[in-house]
Amino acid sequence: MSLAFDEYGRPFIIVREQQAKERLKGIEAHKAHILAAKTISNIMKSSLGPKGMDKMMVSQDGEVTVTNDGATILENMQVDNQIAKLMVQLSKSQDDEIGDGTTGVVVLAGSLLEQAEGLIEKGIHPCRIYEGYEVACKIAIEHLGSISDSITFSKDDLEPLVKTAMTCLGSKIVNRFHRQMSEIAVKAVVSVADMERKDVNFENIKLEGKEGGKLEDTQLIKGIIIDKGISHPQMPKTIKDAKICLLTCPFEPPKPKTKNSIEITKAEDLKKLGDIEQQYFIDMVQKVKATGANLVLCQWGFDDEANHLLLQNGLPAVRWVGGLDLEKIAMATGGRIVARFEDVSADKLGKAGLVREIGFGTTQDRYLSIEDCPNTNAVTIFVRGGNKMIVEEAKRSIHDALCVTRNLIRDNRIIYGGGSAEISCGLKIASKADEIPTIEQYAVRAFADALDAIPLALAENSGLEPIEALSGVKALQIKENNPHLGIDCNYKNTNDMKAQFVFDTLPGKTQQFLLANQVVKMILKIDDIIKQSGSPD
Ligand code: ADP
Repeated sequence: MSLAFDEYGRPFIIVREQQAKERLKGIEAHKAHILAAKTISNIMKSSLGPKGMDKMMVSQDGEVTVTNDGATILENMQVDNQIAKLMVQLSKSQDDEIGDGTTGVVVLAGSLLEQAEGLIEKGIHPCRIYEGYEVACKIAIEHLGSISDSITFSKDDLEPLVKTAMTCLGSKIVNRFHRQMSEIAVKAVVSVADMERKDVNFENIKLEGKEGGKLEDTQLIKGIIIDKGISHPQMPKTIKDAKICLLTCPFEPPKPKTKNSIEITKAEDLKKLGDIEQQYFIDMVQKVKATGANLVLCQWGFDDEANHLLLQNGLPAVRWVGGLDLEKIAMATGGRIVARFEDVSADKLGKAGLVREIGFGTTQDRYLSIEDCPNTNAVTIFVRGGNKMIVEEAKRSIHDALCVTRNLIRDNRIIYGGGSAEISCGLKIASKADEIPTIEQYAVRAFADALDAIPLALAENSGLEPIEALSGVKALQIKENNPHLGIDCNYKNTNDMKAQFVFDTLPGKTQQFLLANQVVKMILKIDDIIKQSGSPD
């Protein structure tokens, strides 16, 4: 650092360049990128498939997350490397678009880059590689369409949807109850789905979790849940044909808005004041009762005296209901929120078939479920589990199952899993590669080899000898001309994934190929890294 003066004699400080900029170019840059991406994909590999391992992540403040979900693992991994960040985003894109297949997409991208590295070392220019990959990806996607199957289902026959959701949950922590969980997920989606328009509004499905209890206690509630309980333990906990008064004014005598003080000198005056206050409460309760309401939801609190009066008058109430919750309930039940006691009337009451309080043994936590509302088909999945980590992971897994079911409602085409689609596409691409007269032929073939990473990882994670398992299935696919043969991860003595009911959605798999290919192209196009010193790796 040195001090200098400009032509007017004003001083200024010159900060010398602290260090030369770091720079990586050409093959070195490519290799560095590929290494970073491969590292991420190798971490994810062991989580793939029904026997995939879970990862435990501990955040800086000690919060622990155990998960098998690719997007969540990557989100929680604090990566500094820019290329590694691209892989994180890749998984996130798959999660946003499809909601499932987040591990597979990263493994595939890593494998494509690994193959590309070999080609670069052979002296093939990266642009020829990604041109070849582009060709191969197109062949793969066409082929996926030709080996896809479609499943038929209706509101009365949901079994095919349940089976697909089960494949998705097979690798997750909930897999012991994956039948039950899948049924819950499918019922939730179907009850909010618009089958005509083939659309599902996820806003209407709420995932709520509470630690304690068992995973199998998870239930689907056809209504809204709020985390509040009835205000007095002796009030009824179940209200049928509820007529709900929604209040945003407190159950208390009005207070003057300006500062004032009342001087009370005589004991009877104090008593009089108390009596007037009580009369206020009584009037309020009577006003609400007169409308025919049999439940009050109040945005504000009220004191024990008011609570007692409400009990005496047989009017169950809930206090401190959040503003947003109150609005949601108003919309669902067709009620109007009332801000002044003078305005309460019968036509402003919300209606619900059943309102009940859900309690949890000895803990103080209580929830209120408002079911059979006239204006909504919203549902809540209420997840239970031994501890917070399990509940969170179960919620993530159910979210995946919800996404898969939604995808099937949008597009009912499926392809078989267990790596069968990848093997079949690989064979197709390899056969087409021979017809390509240019250098791209190598890249096309490399794409086919890269696809093997999925069945290899599935076999390895299931404790099978990966290369042996893959070559066995590949040979069988050719021999029997059956694209449904994949890795028998659950040792069911058949490689036929159709028989094992293991399938993924066609849009999900197509998206995986497209996204992986896109990110690989992007990484291969970078040939220069200029880093300011001090920036992260
Ligand atoms: P992702 O996050 O990518 O969905 P998963 O861990 O859910 O990763 O694994 C999905 C892969 O596991 C898919 O390729 C799917 O075909 C395969 N798979 C799932 N269940 C089975 C099974 N029972 N047998 C064989 N393969 C399966």
